Amino acid sequence: MNFNIVLLGPPGCGKGTQAKMLTAKYQIPQISTGDILREAVKNKTPMGIKAKAFMDSGKLVTDDVVVGIIQDRLKEPDCESGFILDGFPRTVVQAEALDRTLEEAGKKIEHAISIEVDDAELMGRLTGRRTCRSCGAMYHVMFNAPQKEGICDACGGELYQRDDDQEATIRNRLEVYQQQTAPVIGYYRKKNILRPIKGTGGIEDILKSIEDVLQRKE
Ligand code: ADP
Ligand code: ADP
Ligand code: ZN
Repeated sequence: MNFNIVLLGPPGCGKGTQAKMLTAKYQIPQISTGDILREAVKNKTPMGIKAKAFMDSGKLVTDDVVVGIIQDRLKEPDCESGFILDGFPRTVVQAEALDRTLEEAGKKIEHAISIEVDDAELMGRLTGRRTCRSCGAMYHVMFNAPQKEGICDACGGELYQRDDDQEATIRNRLEVYQQQTAPVIGYYRKKNILRPIKGTGGIEDILKSIEDVLQRKE
């Protein structure tokens, strides 16, 4: 099946967690601008050096940088039969640039899945988030704990806490989300491709609601 999907929602709503499961299921790549930027920061590339200060303070990296990342990535052959955008677009300017880029390739976004979780729950999810350094699998110290503390169930890699998952930075990110990213939901609603999903409850149940939306004939 061919799906061009955007996953929307506030930091901590479960975009990465769901994207990884959808990737496995539908054999289409997860494209996370956050992951690509963190890799650039780690490798100290010119882009990473520029992005670091924005990311550390919880602000958005500039639109031109992330739009460039996505334009390059979507040209890769593995995007031919679909892709899952995770954490992009985060501004209306990015959403418009994405539409133009896809249009040039004769493609479009088919589903903008908006995962809805209250602010009150997001803080706890983000402070407890742990990520595998080797394979990128996502855990939570309470809600989705690994079998062995600090060790990835999937690959045995080391789990780490992201620098920006500290309370003060999380607060900034949630505010940035309300101001700059929430309008993207309206953008897709107007295009009639917004699919709201309740983001609380079991991870597998949420995956099931997303799959139901993807299978539904419009
Ligand atoms: P989360 O999964 O918690 O929402 P991400 O990994 O998506 O966080 O993003 C981490 C940081 O990377 C953001 O706070 C922001 O600084 C930067 N970033 C990621 N994607 C974008 C984007 N599309 N536009 C601007 N900045 C971005
Ligand atoms: P995002 O990519 O949207 O920032 P993540 O997928 O990284 O969100 O999830 C944030 C944290 O919440 C992770 O620690 C993850 O294990 C946890 N999490 C994801 N889905 C759920 C859920 N349905 N219930 C409880 N915790 C969850
Ligand atoms: Zn791992």
